[in-house]
Amino acid sequence: MNYSRQRELILKTVKENKIHPTAQDIYELVKEKSPNISLGTVYRDLNFLAEAGIIRKIDIGDKQIHFDGDISEHCHFVCLDCGKIHDIERKDYCHDENKNLIAKGFIPLRKDVIIYGQCPVCNKKEREN
Ligand SMILES: [Zn+2]
Ligand SMILES: [Zn+2]
Repeated sequence: MNYSRQRELILKTVKENKIHPTAQDIYELVKEKSPNISLGTVYRDLNFLAEAGIIRKIDIGDKQIHFDGDISEHCHFVCLDCGKIHDIERKDYCHDENKNLIAKGFIPLRKDVIIYGQCPVCNKKEREN
């Protein structure tokens, strides 16, 4: 597989897997289709795609970089029980605090909000036990 085809496959894999995969996750998935690929290549391509703004990097503080194929504005909810990273729509977390910032002279361009807590599945489990 040539270089650009490989990068395309990596991009497709990130976009199709909405679990906010790590480089290792992507490597495992891509390897099924392209067995000769190395983890180093996957790292390099993921970083290239993130720097080009085609995918997004997320740091949730677990010492691993997660990748997101969805670059539309949304924030993330990290469940402290199951560790899953959920997408949260803008309308569910944006309370127009930008207005206050702008009034103070700040120009917000990008928001990277991470909320930590318990997801609906884990919350339900706890209530049932
Ligand atoms: Zn959970
Ligand atoms: Zn996301």
